Amino acid sequence: MDRSVFTRTFNKETVPDWRCPTCGTGKLTLKPDSLTVGEGSNSRQAHDHPAWGPEWIDYRFSCMFLCDSKPCAEVVACVGTGSVDHYGWFDEQTGHEEESYEDFFTPKLFVPPLVLMDIPKECPDSVCVRLKQSFAMYFADPGGAMNAGRAAVEALMTELGVARYTNSKGKRHPIPLHKRIEKLTAKYATPLKEMLIAVKWLGNAGSHDGNEPEHEHVRLMYDMLEHCLAEIYDNKVKKLKALAKQVNKKKGI
Ligand SMILES: [Zn+2]
Repeated sequence: MDRSVFTRTFNKETVPDWRCPTCGTGKLTLKPDSLTVGEGSNSRQAHDHPAWGPEWIDYRFSCMFLCDSKPCAEVVACVGTGSVDHYGWFDEQTGHEEESYEDFFTPKLFVPPLVLMDIPKECPDSVCVRLKQSFAMYFADPGGAMNAGRAAVEALMTELGVARYTNSKGKRHPIPLHKRIEKLTAKYATPLKEMLIAVKWLGNAGSHDGNEPEHEHVRLMYDMLEHCLAEIYDNKVKKLKALAKQVNKKKGI
């Protein structure tokens, strides 16, 4: 999936190519007149500053998006923050410097959450639930989104039959995720295990102190998870690989 659309802002005129989270095919459009914008308290008070400019403005907004696919017509609520961009250019016809200001808005929350990864149909519910929790947090809390991605890998290990606990002296001890991934049967290739371990490290970064996780780190995690889930569950990939083998064997069709 092309996740670059989730790095974009929107305004009244332009909405990025965000797909409907319910039908997956319709495109989200801004519901006319639903955009409500307010300026933050500090932002309002800053207007008195002698150096004030529109670029200092800090908005909060709420709005509704509608799915443009008629049978679906899902309604998606959204809240977030906004700012003002300054554009300056030289107009050769008038011979003057021209300028304009444009509002733009950055979503922090979508309800229902946008779907940020391709998930194979065969992917178990326990994994999907964690992924959807991750999508819900992505825009406002990248660290939380990565943590939920790590929890999706824990659920995946359970679905693939890897034990969660060891028993010793009558006590149950949780097995660390790293060890669980290594315990996957030989059916799962080493590169896949390495990628799952990388997802685990990214997920750890989401829950521990240190550098604040950024959206780009979450998108990297989704790239890896998407690939792993397709490798494990997507029959299309398996069929294509089998077909590729046949083609290579015959050196043609
Ligand atoms: Zn839809």
